[in-house]
Amino acid sequence: MIDKKTDSEKVVIGVDIGGTNTAIGIVNYKNELLLENSFLTKADEGIDAFIRRLTKKIKEAFGRYEATHVLEGIGVAAPSANYLNGIIESPANLKWGDVNFIEMMKKNFDVPIALINDANAAALGEQKFGSAKGMNNFIVLTLGTGLGTGIVVNGHLLYGENGFAGEIGHTIIEKDGRQCNCGRRGCLETYVSATGIKRTVFNFLSKYNDQSELRRLNFENVTGKQISEFALQNDQIALKAFNYTGEILGRALANIVTYFDPQAIILSGGLVDSDELLLNPTLKYFDEFLLNVYKGKVQILKSNLQNGEAAVLGACSFAREEIFENILNII
Ligand SMILES: [Zn+2]
Repeated sequence: MIDKKTDSEKVVIGVDIGGTNTAIGIVNYKNELLLENSFLTKADEGIDAFIRRLTKKIKEAFGRYEATHVLEGIGVAAPSANYLNGIIESPANLKWGDVNFIEMMKKNFDVPIALINDANAAALGEQKFGSAKGMNNFIVLTLGTGLGTGIVVNGHLLYGENGFAGEIGHTIIEKDGRQCNCGRRGCLETYVSATGIKRTVFNFLSKYNDQSELRRLNFENVTGKQISEFALQNDQIALKAFNYTGEILGRALANIVTYFDPQAIILSGGLVDSDELLLNPTLKYFDEFLLNVYKGKVQILKSNLQNGEAAVLGACSFAREEIFENILNII
């Protein structure tokens, strides 16, 4: 599509669909985030209701810029998203089954729409704008409702044969372990994620006698942020939960290094924002479990982007690349 707008007036909208929240951002041609907001995903209301709300939110967000800007495209990051076919395939934490997402969105928008796995979008965001700038080999772990992984090898995102490379959150780390939303037991993300640490806290509340303010809360209402706040107030159950989570994460990271030999592993998400509560035990156990040949060679970093920004920026950047390639194909 050729239009008369100059580059400076072109924007892309990035969407990051999470298990709990969905973020929307508008990015200009300089890759500056003009606006970002979020709303509750409410996945249990079903995909049709979600698409209706997402459409409304995108139109509201772009409405502020419509008079002066042109929308080039929309990039959407989602869990279990397959960029090869535009389908979100049975996302474990959303319970939507297979969703032909691009086709559904195209009924509401007449601009190009690109779909990308959320952790892959986060990896692109980190590579272009965040902690992985200039790196060619790195892994991004997003710790949210679940645990997502974006893998960059030799400068390129690793998609795999079916577009699903990097489901490290579903590596089984415990035989007959915790029930996972994927239908199996003992997956890494049932321990290492905002939901995972919550399960650990409630397990520890029954296992240990420590006094804890967490005893007054019920499972449904506790957030990862609250657990962090209690840990910072020296709550022993919360601190034990962070240590336990850090041990499992540290071991998982040491294993990841043996597969990919990365320069860095970047951790993002609400749980990682909480000072060094998770990072300190993770680093300790990572060093303990790391194979000698890698010692001192792999950095474990916290994302330097705001929570959620990496995936939104990455989705925009991915959409731009897709649009650019399609235009080239037309020419
Ligand atoms: Zn699983």
